[in-house]
Amino acid sequence: MRTYEDTYRHKGMRKQLIDSIAQKGITDERVLDAMLHLPRHYFMDSAFDKIAYEDRAFPIGEDQTISQPYTVAYQTQLLELKPFEKVLEIGTGSAYQASVLAEMGAQVFTIERQRKLFEQNKNFQYVRKFPGIKFFYGDGYEGLPTFAPFDKIIVTAAAPLIPPKLLEQLKTQGKMVIPIGDGKVQRMFRITKKEGGILQEEEFDNFSFVPMLEGRNN
Ligand code: SAH
Repeated sequence: MRTYEDTYRHKGMRKQLIDSIAQKGITDERVLDAMLHLPRHYFMDSAFDKIAYEDRAFPIGEDQTISQPYTVAYQTQLLELKPFEKVLEIGTGSAYQASVLAEMGAQVFTIERQRKLFEQNKNFQYVRKFPGIKFFYGDGYEGLPTFAPFDKIIVTAAAPLIPPKLLEQLKTQGKMVIPIGDGKVQRMFRITKKEGGILQEEEFDNFSFVPMLEGRNN
């Protein structure tokens, strides 16, 4: 069950969470602002209502999680998003990350491989209020060739390598933010596609994501 009421208590907890994320080193005010506006507790079961604003991941069903707020902020900051940019997200999950991007003015194309999670978002009235988010059921390794190229790509599951088809779908000067590694811990990378297809790789901190799996799951 979910509840859609944003009380003063929720708002107070959310403010504290955002302050703590800023203290951990997130400086992009637009990221912090977007997260301050989004009621994160709407994106999970009401059983988590009291702890929804702790800086941690929570289960959302199908063995998947809504990412930790610090991680969402970190990846979003690395994207260096500008309004109206076209962003491809791999791993819709709860649609929280997609909503942060839409709240910042991006046009979001998001893919989920778990049919149940995809269906859940179809009936999720709150995220449906963002006309800037388009939901797809499919395999993120394939990307969305029909809608390519993208200004930015964000992968929210742990990839064993940089998926080649996603690179193809990135614009020149575009950036991809992706956790890479096949163990329990992955390293965050930002890949910039330069003129002539030359890749610039920057390496950041360690994170722990659920794995990016091949194919769709019914
Ligand atoms: N961005 C999400 C985080 C979800 S966790 C949020 O804000 O809540 C990662 C998600 O990636 C899971 O829902 C998982 O099912 C999905 N996923 C894993 N491999 C995938 C793939 N190949 N294509 C699309 N989605 C994938």
